Amino acid sequence: MNFDSESQSPSEGDAADWDAFDWRMTAADAVDAADVIQSPDCVDRVVELADMRSVFAAQQFVEVDALHREFLEDAKRHGRALTDVLERSLRLELASALRITEHAASELVRLADALVHRYPKALESLGRAQMTERHAATLVDALDSVEPAMREGLVVPAVALAEAESVGTFRRALRKLVDIVRADTLAERHEAAVRERRVAIEPAEDGMAWVHAHLPAVEAYAIHDRLTRIGRVLGAVDGETRSLDQLRADALCDLLIDGDTAHHPVEARGIRATVAVTVPALAALGGDQGLEPAVVEGIGPIPIAKARELCGGADGWMRILTHPETGMVLSVGRDQYRPPPALRRLVRWRADRCMAPGCGIPASRCEIDHSLAWEDGGETSLANLDPLCKGHHTVKHHGDWVVRHLDGGALEWISPTGRRYVVQPERRVPVFRRADSGDAPF
Ligand SMILES: [Zn+2]
Repeated sequence: MNFDSESQSPSEGDAADWDAFDWRMTAADAVDAADVIQSPDCVDRVVELADMRSVFAAQQFVEVDALHREFLEDAKRHGRALTDVLERSLRLELASALRITEHAASELVRLADALVHRYPKALESLGRAQMTERHAATLVDALDSVEPAMREGLVVPAVALAEAESVGTFRRALRKLVDIVRADTLAERHEAAVRERRVAIEPAEDGMAWVHAHLPAVEAYAIHDRLTRIGRVLGAVDGETRSLDQLRADALCDLLIDGDTAHHPVEARGIRATVAVTVPALAALGGDQGLEPAVVEGIGPIPIAKARELCGGADGWMRILTHPETGMVLSVGRDQYRPPPALRRLVRWRADRCMAPGCGIPASRCEIDHSLAWEDGGETSLANLDPLCKGHHTVKHHGDWVVRHLDGGALEWISPTGRRYVVQPERRVPVFRRADSGDAPF
């Protein structure tokens, strides 16, 4: 929500981010590193087995689809009314034979149908072990969410991404691609969705109940941010024992039931929410067509009209144009170890995520690391700073990995077994250089 690592809630879904985490690198990466590796080692053997699984998965999809077609042919012969029953029968057959749930069997049939008939290029790539089964499933889910007419142009770039990126990074990059092609209809879709806003109550056990509010994302995140900020101030009071979750819930009641927060400390009153909105500079100025949509941190794309409204007006919105602000501090060299706030913000904005391979932890919850350690003469500059989550910060310092900065803000990781992985930042900071200068770009 904001850019201070100190102010992050410990309870916000770390588990989900670790789920998205994927250590397995693509075969292409392994080939990349072929010149580094002399003879096959344990990692090679694991990679080879994983590749075989991909090949077998592709073959299984083909067979499952053939079986599905057979059942459908049968349905045709017995008249359309029986289609549902036969589909169900197929699921049961597969589930029993494979000893999986019918839900899992139905997923298998769905993926097989999509890969064989809609995305044969992805199936072919899986069959050559250029992507994993999880990449294929992610690709199907993302592209199936797009209107059929728009899918065509997405398949090739999606397959290329799947072949290059680990699953977590692939999912985010593909989401971004999908958002761009759907940006033109985003305003319409958002307007229709806003008409569905509502507050609902759902009874729960032990005398509790849930209050759900289905809201436009920006407002919803602003509400959560304000509650979090109030909760932190209350939590810092001596003797306070409530957790941040409890404090948020109590502040919500105080604000909504009678609007009376007089018993809160002075610092907790008048707190306003901060939401970071990233707006492509061109979109902020005018023409919307085919441009990257505006994005709210932690939410995703919002209609550009809404972004312009946020950027033009009310206080409390942190505005980041995808262009550096004049006078932005890019380096303080060896003068100080701790980066100034503007530089920390820029480092996090550029990476968006932890800069370890495949990690999905948002930069706002990461620590800022000097790639070349301060003790070894590393500078406090954009060219030497990166957000790393706590886990990967530890791995970097104690795990025998060699990590260094490349041009353009990318980070190179050399594993203890000699494999090389390059993590690209989410965004680029434009470089300004005098024609005669030999300054290193960021
Ligand atoms: Zn990480």
